[in-house]
Amino acid sequence: MTRIAIIGSGPSGFYAAQEFFKKEPDGYIDMFERLPTPFGLLRGGVAPDHQQMKTLSKLYDRIASHPNFRFFGHVHVGKDVSIDTIRRHYHAVILAVGAETDRRLGIPGDDCVGSHTATEFVGWYNGHPDYQSRVFNLNASVAVVIGQGNVAVDVVRILAKPVDDLAKTDITDTAISALRQSRITDIYMIGRRGPAQAAFTELELTELGKLAGVTVVVHDDLVLSDADSMEMAASSKVRKNITQLEMFKASSSIKTPQKTIHLMFYSSPTRIHTDANGHITGIQCTKTALMGEAGSQKAILTSETYDIPCGIVFRSIGYRGVPLDGVPFNEATHTIPHKNGHVCDQNGQLFGNVFVTGWIKRGPSGVIGTNRSDSIETVTTCLAALPTLPDPHPLDTPSLLANHRYVSYADWQKLDAYEQSEGIKKGKVRDKVTSAKEAFAVLDNHSHS
Ligand SMILES: Cc1cc2nc3c(=O)[nH]c(=O)nc-3n(C[C@H](O)[C@H](O)[C@H](O)COP(=O)(O)OP(=O)(O)OC[C@H]3O[C@@H](n4cnc5c(N)ncnc54)[C@H](O)[C@@H]3O)c2cc1C
Repeated sequence: MTRIAIIGSGPSGFYAAQEFFKKEPDGYIDMFERLPTPFGLLRGGVAPDHQQMKTLSKLYDRIASHPNFRFFGHVHVGKDVSIDTIRRHYHAVILAVGAETDRRLGIPGDDCVGSHTATEFVGWYNGHPDYQSRVFNLNASVAVVIGQGNVAVDVVRILAKPVDDLAKTDITDTAISALRQSRITDIYMIGRRGPAQAAFTELELTELGKLAGVTVVVHDDLVLSDADSMEMAASSKVRKNITQLEMFKASSSIKTPQKTIHLMFYSSPTRIHTDANGHITGIQCTKTALMGEAGSQKAILTSETYDIPCGIVFRSIGYRGVPLDGVPFNEATHTIPHKNGHVCDQNGQLFGNVFVTGWIKRGPSGVIGTNRSDSIETVTTCLAALPTLPDPHPLDTPSLLANHRYVSYADWQKLDAYEQSEGIKKGKVRDKVTSAKEAFAVLDNHSHS
């Protein structure tokens, strides 16, 4: 029987499992996840006030209910067990490890106190174990979010939204109490290019305008160049964004807001200002102009600069994949090179029984559903390659992990039930377990009660 290891339990990992069982219902899957809980960015990235999206986990539960599916949470492949060991014990290995770090801005002050990545902030409010010790100073009146994708919009919305609305979600208690004490009144979201090139989508943009007590101000004229108009004609997303921005522009002056979201285009951050203690005091932006053909316009710096005094900055300019020991990696794209999902080296030589899917395969783009088609391609390639791959060593997985405590899917289901019941007590959707230590304590209590 075919035995597959999937590394990573985010959407791409689960869609790979779904496709594999569809084609090989008698095959076996072991899924390894470094966190004690499954679902990757569905749990630790997708915003807590987007609970509808999070119900996708029910589909993943169904996939995991296949009798030949096993989950090994709290197993960091590359640390707790090597990728080579995994490779020896399975017919094929599918890497679905996502893009776990950020792209850097590379400007003076990038790393000063008060300058954070969106990854840290998002992970912190979503209960990701890696980010629970982070501290965000929300005492300042002005926050700047660099970037204009949907993740940047999430960060802006979480800072602007009435806290009582957030408190009912699965956001952490730590984040709620920090947000309750927040003094932020003005949030700037800045992007290098113009309104026609913004990466956010209309649904997310429109949501900003619906927040109680919040007004959205568009600071730039929405004058489109010929190239912009061509881009708009070619994309309904751009047309919808521009229509929504025009509506913000027409209505922003008539409200009396408690909080204001400022949308700034054609602005490139060029310096983060700090005081003598290295704490952030503001950000310098340089105005840009767009050059190039429709569809590939680039922002070029002009000589005009302006400052936004602020007490905190969130850098949301894209997620970035990290290499796995001994696996080919493209340092320019921060992805694993592949041919239709079969990992290959820089010269195009196929890399044995290793396959790749999701963000680590194609970079951090697309919606959750994009990972499904991606994983279908990978599994199709993998199954076609199987007859050419050697048979694996028969040793069973638990003996590979002899001295390592892992979380099974049954354990996760206990944690899931615990989180939901604790949530009910607090009037929220769920109260998340935020560390492996806490997860094992809950499981130990559960088995004793
Ligand atoms: C802040 C944010 C909000 C988003 N909101 C939405 C949204 O509302 N709607 C939408 O459609 N899309 C949204 N997305 C995009 C969506 O989350 C991604 O498309 C999707 O999660 C990518 O899936 P993946 O499986 O490739 O990676 P991930 O979801 O990142 O999963 C990778 C998994 O691999 C694990 N892992 C990593 N390294 C190892 C290792 N060495 N050993 C074992 N396990 C490992 C990680 O812990 C993680 O669980 C959002 C993304 C972000 C960042």
